Amino acid sequence: MKSTGIIRGLDNMGRVVIPKEIRKFLDMTEGVDEFEIYMQDDCIVLKKHKPNCVFCGIEEDCIDFEGQLVCKNCIEKMQKIKEEIQNIE
Ligand SMILES: [Zn+2]
Repeated sequence: MKSTGIIRGLDNMGRVVIPKEIRKFLDMTEGVDEFEIYMQDDCIVLKKHKPNCVFCGIEEDCIDFEGQLVCKNCIEKMQKIKEEIQNIE
């Protein structure tokens, strides 16, 4: 983990402002992008949230299905299961 040397305080609502240069570096858009919050020992780690497949977690080639993202690889796996079921019947 790399130190930025930046120190920021919490406001009385528990909020902290992420410095503009860090938001720009991560290509974050205010009011749009989200962070995932992780705990690591006594640290809070913020990771830019990227939508990912509900089954395997990868971020690439995802398609929205009923409000959930599913990747093409998992769709192919489900297709194979469907074909196996149809062969049994
Ligand atoms: Zn997947």
